Amino acid sequence: MITIAEALARMMPAFTPRGREFVPLDEARGRVLASDLLVREDAPPFDNSAMDGWAVHAPDVASAAENTPVVLPIAGESRAGGPPPRTLVAGSAMRIFTGAPLPAGADAVVVQEDSELTGEGVALRFASERYRHVRRKGSDLRKGDVLVTAGTPIHAGSIALLASQGIDTVEVVRRPVVAILSTGDELRDLGEAREAGTIVNSNAPMLAALVEEAGAVPLRLPRAPDQLEVVTERLREALDADLLLTSGGVSVGDYDVVREAFTQAGIEMDFWKVAIKPGKPLAFGVHDGTPAVGLPGNPVSAYVTFQLFVRPGLRRMLGDARPFPKVHRLVLDGDLQHRPGRTELVRGRWTERGVAPHGHRGSGSLASIAEAEVLIVLPAEIEHLSAGTEVSVLVLQDRDESPPF
Ligand code: AMP
Ligand code: MG
Repeated sequence: MITIAEALARMMPAFTPRGREFVPLDEARGRVLASDLLVREDAPPFDNSAMDGWAVHAPDVASAAENTPVVLPIAGESRAGGPPPRTLVAGSAMRIFTGAPLPAGADAVVVQEDSELTGEGVALRFASERYRHVRRKGSDLRKGDVLVTAGTPIHAGSIALLASQGIDTVEVVRRPVVAILSTGDELRDLGEAREAGTIVNSNAPMLAALVEEAGAVPLRLPRAPDQLEVVTERLREALDADLLLTSGGVSVGDYDVVREAFTQAGIEMDFWKVAIKPGKPLAFGVHDGTPAVGLPGNPVSAYVTFQLFVRPGLRRMLGDARPFPKVHRLVLDGDLQHRPGRTELVRGRWTERGVAPHGHRGSGSLASIAEAEVLIVLPAEIEHLSAGTEVSVLVLQDRDESPPF
């Protein structure tokens, strides 16, 4: 039996990006950038005003103060989207609005609140030094610098950044197709008639959702009974997917045929047991560069092992430079007993103090995966963790009912 760390170290190299494609920026959310993008034009593209007020030549207002305003004649206006402003003649002030180009000859802005219209022009009560309230050309981004690096997932903020640079198409990593095969004589799909002794195949829709959440494309295969030939055939037919994902049939029972089916389908087996709870039977192999993962049938085990082993693999296939979940150190709100041996990932929830184990710790509880917000790491050799201890935690969900401010 190998450790989680060793299993990850053996698996991850098999998960490599599968090609690239161009997509319109409008469809790029969640995709991962395949190549570095460079700044195309300085941002801001021209000197412009950060405030509504008056464009001036800074030395002209050097002596201005609350009680000793400088009065300047008014020379036109500059507004955002308006005609290009005329050159400002020294000794005058131009009405200017937020985002409007700073006229040539001006190098500062006095804000409207520090001004007052008079018979002779405008009285300015503040000595704006050079570039006060001016957003300078290129102060945010310089043409030729790196704008966004390869391996970055694209989200609303980066979409704005790319759009502002006139980028309407991006090169992203192709989304891997994940063939999902559930195995088990007892399974019936949703909508199918269920005789006594059968259960609903909940892994297939769960795994399809997990694959989608990871950013990949699920391809559901017809479920297979616990028959070596059928499972082998299904696997063979799916070998051109980017990842083969099965559930069930990987333990040591008489009807656990998946491991043997992997071998018969030409998948070179690497390991089939990991020191993790839930989820000890976890099989991994590779067929001609295509990884194959056999998850345990127990839905709780399948969920946890997917999060830990498959999701990072898919994120790496998607080109994500940070494919792993972040480990947080948080306070344990409750006691935990543990039989030493395997590292346990305890489904938990947020509390006022930190994180607490879910009431149903057994691996039969589907409510525990539906409700889990975090996975609490219980190290293999630890027998007991008391409330108040700092523990490592992987976050699945982060939401709150009260506003942050
Ligand atoms: P196995 O890994 O095949 O030994 O299955 C372990 C447990 O998970 C058994 O109780 C199975 O009935 C159950 N199970 C296996 N596959 C699924 C599935 N696709 N959906 C729901 N439960 C399953
Ligand atoms: Mg089974």
